[in-house]
Amino acid sequence: EKNPRTLLYLDGVSVSFDGFKALNSLSFVVEPGELRAIIGPNGAGKTTMMDIITGKTRPDEGEVFFKGDIDLTKRDEAEIAQLGIGRKFQKPTVFENHTVWDNLELALNRGRGVFATLFYRLTGEDKRRIEEILATVRLTARRDDLAAGLSHGQKQWLEIGMLLAQEPELLLVDEPVAGMTDAETAETAILLKDIAKTRSVVVVEHDMGFIRDLGVKVTCLAEGSVLAEGSIDFVSNDPKVIENYLGR
Ligand code: ADP
Repeated sequence: EKNPRTLLYLDGVSVSFDGFKALNSLSFVVEPGELRAIIGPNGAGKTTMMDIITGKTRPDEGEVFFKGDIDLTKRDEAEIAQLGIGRKFQKPTVFENHTVWDNLELALNRGRGVFATLFYRLTGEDKRRIEEILATVRLTARRDDLAAGLSHGQKQWLEIGMLLAQEPELLLVDEPVAGMTDAETAETAILLKDIAKTRSVVVVEHDMGFIRDLGVKVTCLAEGSVLAEGSIDFVSNDPKVIENYLGR
């Protein structure tokens, strides 16, 4: 399975907290340009898996490689972000008292250091990049509005846009559609598919309608390892998945 083109490779990853195995020999592969959904019951290890990938938690056992041969277990969180892994947590954390455009400008300057945030003037290329992100996250018409005035769903999109400003090759997204309207949920599926045209995206979600809309390969975790993996029809008909997750 592992080859030089593999973007993310987890093999036999285990981690325990006070003797409790949160991940139990977990293996997981993401290819470049892939959009993948992760499902599973509470406590399955989904968050811990994201923590391992982003360097927040160290595995007790197993391998984690990015872009073929970069050993993520030897890098800290800041280095891993720099290497091109972005993570969106469940709660949006946009700057409410800044406009949509300024939020994206701040995100673009984040990689340039604190003085850049204060004094850097955007180049034409930077402005084109922000315009492109605005279109991707469906906020072009809201560019001059304060983030505080956005709907919950639009704030989630803005934060995804802020992560895109860092040009991640892999974007990890935690429960993006929780609390969204049905229309926003449907739009989020299209939006993530657009984003996955130029990078890989791993999305953790409980909303099965949304997962079905995505129409991508699904990995179901339970008790720290992969219970089933494949199309949503394959995974949702797996007796183990029904017993451990869907049937609950
Ligand atoms: P999920 O995201 O699928 O709900 P988690 O990865 O959050 O699952 O949790 C997996 C298990 O590991 C849970 O039983 C949780 O209580 C435990 N766990 C996760 N992080 C920690 C931690 N930092 N300290 C102790 N236990 C933890």
